[in-house]
Amino acid sequence: LQSSPAMNVAVLGATGSIGTATIDVLHHLDRIDPTKTWNLWAASGHRNVGLLGELAGQFERPPHQIVLSDPESAAAFAAGTMLAKTKIKTGPDALVEIASAPEVDVVVAAIVGRAGLESTLAAIESGKRVALANKETLVVAGSLVQASLQKTKSDRRCAEVLPVDSEHSAIFQCLGDKESSEESENRCKPRKLILTASGGPFRNASIQQMHDATPQLALNHPTWDMGPKITIDSATMMNKALEVIEARWLFDIPAESIEVVVHPQSIIHSMVEFEDGSVIAQLSPPDMRLPIQYALTYPRRLPCETPALDRTRQWDLMLQPVDRERFPALDLGFEVARVGGTAGSVVNAANEEAVGLFLEGKIRFTDIVPACRRALEHHHFEPQPSLSRLLELDRWARAEVRKQYAT
Ligand code: NAD
Ligand code: MG
Repeated sequence: LQSSPAMNVAVLGATGSIGTATIDVLHHLDRIDPTKTWNLWAASGHRNVGLLGELAGQFERPPHQIVLSDPESAAAFAAGTMLAKTKIKTGPDALVEIASAPEVDVVVAAIVGRAGLESTLAAIESGKRVALANKETLVVAGSLVQASLQKTKSDRRCAEVLPVDSEHSAIFQCLGDKESSEESENRCKPRKLILTASGGPFRNASIQQMHDATPQLALNHPTWDMGPKITIDSATMMNKALEVIEARWLFDIPAESIEVVVHPQSIIHSMVEFEDGSVIAQLSPPDMRLPIQYALTYPRRLPCETPALDRTRQWDLMLQPVDRERFPALDLGFEVARVGGTAGSVVNAANEEAVGLFLEGKIRFTDIVPACRRALEHHHFEPQPSLSRLLELDRWARAEVRKQYAT
């Protein structure tokens, strides 16, 4: 009996919203893909010992490696698991190790925030296909990611970064096959990338209502079920700001060619306008399993568990401009996308810190974006920083935000 070629997948952040959806997709692909077996080769889950054990235990071929963030969690995992052959490792270095393990074909980067940076960079450096959910990597270090991709191209290891973020997956799909010739690329030049935004829970809220917003209200997203950090980012629209920066680096396109439009139904995931004015959009129900699966199987399209759009009912697909006054994060995002350099690292770190403080009830919802703006303005801008400088500024910006709100 001949077995199908294996796709070994490392899921970093397997216990999160994207991570668990990815595990579903792997089970599904392994069932329906006649040409390949899909393996969860490695998985990480910070300190979520119980859920990681449960997910790892679901596979007929159990993962080779598990990564937890500290020795206590690793000991708890070891005590509770039946997976005798699975190696258990701890800490950020172990994340880098599984992201670059020679056995791994695809790395799903689904850790939230700056914590996902080093492992994502390591996966790119070692020539993997990276299914990128962790947009913060591109926000913090977009130019380093571009340089690293170029380097793997020139030494023929050819890393690829494929978007998991639904908007970027939509744009990637609208742009058509990347493999097309240089000549046809020139003929089909995009004029604008148009990111859609749901508008989040405060799409119609007044500034006063946002000023008084509790974490509970802000965590109540109308169309997507996601982790807490990105859900707050959606409420401030900092998520869209981060996505503008993500698009700038992922598609190597200037900030001036990116637009944002509010689309509350989250069915049009984004659009591309070409030179002749034609606009191509990608539509599907809001379900992350589709962009996750496409990043894994590209260029193949296989049946997916995301239900088809129900054409027996009426859909109102509304588009409206963003109110830049109520959502000042947008201007900040475009500014960072324009200047690059150290700006992304500072704004990302300030935002992570401010979101944490808001969730702890220590600052107001409407303090989050001004805290990021102040950190950006107070830092000493450098156009071409090294990774260590970016990480230094990440620590500086967090301390700066804490200092602003120390009472
Ligand atoms: P989540 O909070 O649900 O999950 C985060 C994962 O990262 C968990 O597995 C957690 O254990 C792990 N993690 C958290 N802190 C860590 C640390 N310090 N070290 C190591 N691991 C850590 O988040 P999510 O909603 O799944 O989002 C993950 C990433 O995907 C984010 O970058 C987010 O912006 C992006 N994204 C998410 C969605 C979505 O629908 N949830 C959509 C688009 C993009
Ligand atoms: Mg998105």
